[in-house]
Amino acid sequence: MEQQVKTVVVIGGGITGLSTAYYLEKSAREKGIDLRICLCEADDKLGGKVQTIHRDGFVIEAGPDSFLARKVAAVNLCRELGIDDELVGTNPNARKTYILYQDKLHRIPQGLNIGVPTQFMPFATTSLLSFGGKLRAGLDLIKPKSEHQGDQSLGAFLERRLGSEVVDRLAEPLLAGIYAGDLRKLSMRATFPQYEQLEQKHGSLIRGMVAQAKQAKVQATAPAKQEQGEASRKLPNSVFLTFRTGLRRLIESIEASFQQTEVRKQTAVEKIEARDGGGYHVRLQNGDDLEADAVVLTTPTFEAAKLLPDSFAPKAQLTQIPYVSVATVVFAFEQGVIDFPLDASGFVVPKKEGRTITAATWTSAKWLHTAQDGRVLMRFYVGRGGDEAIVDQPDEEIIRRVQKDLQETMGVTAEPMFSLVSRWRRSMPQYTVGHLDRVQSFVEQAKADLPGIHFAGAGFTGLGIPDCIGQGIQTAADVMKDLTR
Ligand code: FAD
Repeated sequence: MEQQVKTVVVIGGGITGLSTAYYLEKSAREKGIDLRICLCEADDKLGGKVQTIHRDGFVIEAGPDSFLARKVAAVNLCRELGIDDELVGTNPNARKTYILYQDKLHRIPQGLNIGVPTQFMPFATTSLLSFGGKLRAGLDLIKPKSEHQGDQSLGAFLERRLGSEVVDRLAEPLLAGIYAGDLRKLSMRATFPQYEQLEQKHGSLIRGMVAQAKQAKVQATAPAKQEQGEASRKLPNSVFLTFRTGLRRLIESIEASFQQTEVRKQTAVEKIEARDGGGYHVRLQNGDDLEADAVVLTTPTFEAAKLLPDSFAPKAQLTQIPYVSVATVVFAFEQGVIDFPLDASGFVVPKKEGRTITAATWTSAKWLHTAQDGRVLMRFYVGRGGDEAIVDQPDEEIIRRVQKDLQETMGVTAEPMFSLVSRWRRSMPQYTVGHLDRVQSFVEQAKADLPGIHFAGAGFTGLGIPDCIGQGIQTAADVMKDLTR
């Protein structure tokens, strides 16, 4: 009997939706299944948060600027697409970071891993912490491990082990760049579950991190050689990676690889409705209708909630995941106008400093490909959990306040050649305490009531690019399992 071709509708053309479609195609090809994939993206371009701008020879990222090399999903995808030879790492001469403390830039002590010291001397001699603060952090070595069961806040955990000074002056600003949120509300299990495991295994976070660092060194010399055989090229030796021409290279390569995926841009989905006899009608805002055997929702969770059938009451849970708004502000400078040694990747700013800027990247120092002829590119973050009003200010006001901070922290008074403000409203999902349990319970209810609808993306189990790709891989496998049952 002839098999009917099944249709999967993927909603959202960000990195999660694109990688879901990519791995669906791959799996269908491998299994010899004729699958129709339709990817609907509301915007006129793909990529979602991943948006590179080329202007006057500068490579500018409006959203993410790189991805973590150690989380292999992204690197593996680049290898499959044959673009791994275009990956670049950070400038080895600008790998340190500063923290603003009492209006001055202080170097982050060497060996500090998201606030946790792994080397004694740099930590003991840093001017960022008081003598009492350092002693308090040292108590981690003798404090008994916690009996706490279940999830807890990352801030509360770090404060218990290392004290509040380390949290406020080091961990909070370093993590703000990733989650833009309040450490004392963020879930430990959804952000840094390894901290809890290290405490349980080693009885101390510092001892655990030191052991982990030693192990990583050993592993870096042994299996990496095997993995990087003839078939796979050697990657740049860098914690973060991006492409010479910007992160959109990844988006464009995935799009160019599609053979079975019909990409529909400027196609917002309005509603998903159950079809008699199984499957779904996917109603588009332009009045069209798509028939689907399976649907993958990769939009932000508050958008996904609007699309689900009204009869599915648990969808309200998706609107309760908080999202923080941020903006990035780019300044491009002519050669020779910045009289400040750009010898690091930039600096982060603790909330207590009361600045508009939450972090600054000295982009052209960190990524040598982003500016030519000695010109300088810098990027600033504004907006964070509990302090988002700045994002709604007009461009001129945001630029004025960033310039003021720049003058007062680095003494920069030069006018930029141009500046660019990119607003990312409700862009940073906040994994608050209990997030993973709530997501799991939601997914189980959806599985029972809405079979064939799958959920992935930054609002669910990981927001970094590799985690989004990882969710794409998992979701593609789940969909194929459903369809071939
Ligand atoms: P999105 O990129 O949000 O994609 C969802 C897509 O769904 C969008 O394109 C949207 O238009 C579409 N959509 C919405 N509603 C509909 C609808 N009704 N119908 C059809 N389409 C719809 N991560 C890193 O790894 N490294 C970084 O350096 C980094 N920096 C970041 C900097 C900023 C400023 C931001 C905001 C995020 C950063 N992140 C970083 C996080 C990472 O970029 C995102 O978590 C990730 O790109 C999200 O991908 P996604 O596909 O899940 O969602």
